[in-house]
Amino acid sequence: DNFGISEALKALEIKAENSGSSTGTKWLGSEGELIESYSPVDGNLIGKVSTTTEDQYEEIIKKAEEAFKAWRLMPAPKRGEVVRQIGEELRKHKESLGKLVSYEMGKSYQEGLGEVQEMIDICDFAVGLSRQLHGLTMHSERPSHRMYEQYHPLGIVGIISAFNFPVAVWSWNTMLAWVCGDVCIWKPSEKTPLCSIACQNIIARVFEANDVPEGVSCIVNGDYKIGQLISNDKRIPLVSATGSIRMGKKVGEAVGARLGKSLLELGGNNAIIITENADLEIAITGALFGAVGTCGQRCTSTRRLIIHDSIYEDVKNKLTNAYKQLKIGNPLDEKNHVGPLIDKDAVKMYEEALEAVKAQGGSILLEGGVLTGEGYESGCYVKPVIAEASNELQIVQEETFAPILYLMKYSSIEEAIDIQNGVVQGLSSAIMTTNMREAERFLSHQGSDCGIANVNIGTSGAEIGGAFGGEKETGGGRESGSDAWKVYMRRQTNTINYGTELPLAQGIKFDF
Ligand code: NAD
Repeated sequence: DNFGISEALKALEIKAENSGSSTGTKWLGSEGELIESYSPVDGNLIGKVSTTTEDQYEEIIKKAEEAFKAWRLMPAPKRGEVVRQIGEELRKHKESLGKLVSYEMGKSYQEGLGEVQEMIDICDFAVGLSRQLHGLTMHSERPSHRMYEQYHPLGIVGIISAFNFPVAVWSWNTMLAWVCGDVCIWKPSEKTPLCSIACQNIIARVFEANDVPEGVSCIVNGDYKIGQLISNDKRIPLVSATGSIRMGKKVGEAVGARLGKSLLELGGNNAIIITENADLEIAITGALFGAVGTCGQRCTSTRRLIIHDSIYEDVKNKLTNAYKQLKIGNPLDEKNHVGPLIDKDAVKMYEEALEAVKAQGGSILLEGGVLTGEGYESGCYVKPVIAEASNELQIVQEETFAPILYLMKYSSIEEAIDIQNGVVQGLSSAIMTTNMREAERFLSHQGSDCGIANVNIGTSGAEIGGAFGGEKETGGGRESGSDAWKVYMRRQTNTINYGTELPLAQGIKFDF
């Protein structure tokens, strides 16, 4: 058995064939076509999940609409208590769910565990938040008047998620949405459907014990067509979509056409600036983890290194040496550093990107290639690549979801920041320096234009306490910590007159 996978599947109640549609504790029938989920780890079929039919989708929306009417009446701290119990249940299932994430998606077991830890952390955060859904109060310009604002639940939140964080992104959205009083419909990636079944089985226990109505946590499965049902549906006031820029433009357009709200978390093209004042040990480790972690399949993966020309050769040599030590193989085996890409389509994209680098005038420093032979039967294992390429190349401007790192030189900090900002994406960025002036300039309004800007840590691996998301074509959405919860609620401004007159605002007179 592959590192205890059968036990994990059993603990998570994953069967060979699973319904892909649920309203909470109940699974609907399996009428729809089946999605087969193959593991990129060993190429084996893990299980099948039925896609949601249009009739089932309608049934689910009806349940969600009904459930919202009851759920919004439960006091927010009581909803927080339900989320607290989900956090407890996740703690019990951390190992099995972490293993499934690793096996179905291909990230390392440590990263799988980390993803479940993020779910636990957001539960804890949401529990506290359930007592802090506060607005402001203002002084009125009118005598004997009071003004304040309050936040009310929105309704149904649609969640469309990507394959690379198959469980955490769902929890970032749902745990906040639930304490805010919303109900959720989740469409996971068709590449990682079993992770959604496992999450639903975990929350079902808590929902049952607390008599949470059916419809608060719904799941639909399928490809972009099911995603389109959500983005076109007027009954869904907020659509939170995580994935490629291509997808985000389509979803944003569809939701915008009906004047709904969208929260978009799209692709990144993240860079680290390594200045002549960098602590090189931190810089190399940060760049290495950022570029090859999750096999380059994080939205925050490091794709570009912008290196001061005085240390360029040194960084290049140190990094190339570090890459040569990397062990590529089964991500469930903790000896390995780099696991597989998600599927063969991703391998093809990686190969095409390497061709494009050469064709467009870049040069490959450390050759790539697809690995074959024992342990690599799935055909999804590739060698991480280092290339030298200028920022203007079309291929560098795109996000290739694979471990390809582009090195480039700079001579002044202004130039480095221009290169860093010279892409259409704006998710994560970092500077490696011990010089205060450089660091502060990078973080200032003339510095990085990204949603995330770090000093002396890499571009990947955010904590849940901060708002997460990016600017420009990354979509502008913010999820998780800080005040990201506000997007899941509608704001209402209230003015109350407790006097005996009716003075008008701006001193307007209306006598009769
Ligand atoms: P993808 O865009 O192929 O798919 C994402 C989801 O969108 C899937 O569930 C898919 O079925 C759905 N979808 C696709 N087209 C749709 C349409 N027209 N209407 C409605 N739904 C549609 O992305 P992927 O390959 O699964 O994930 C990788 C991408 O996700 C990368 O670009 C990565 O940077 C991005 N990502 C971003 C963040 C972030 O927070 N910014 C986090 C994780 C991943």
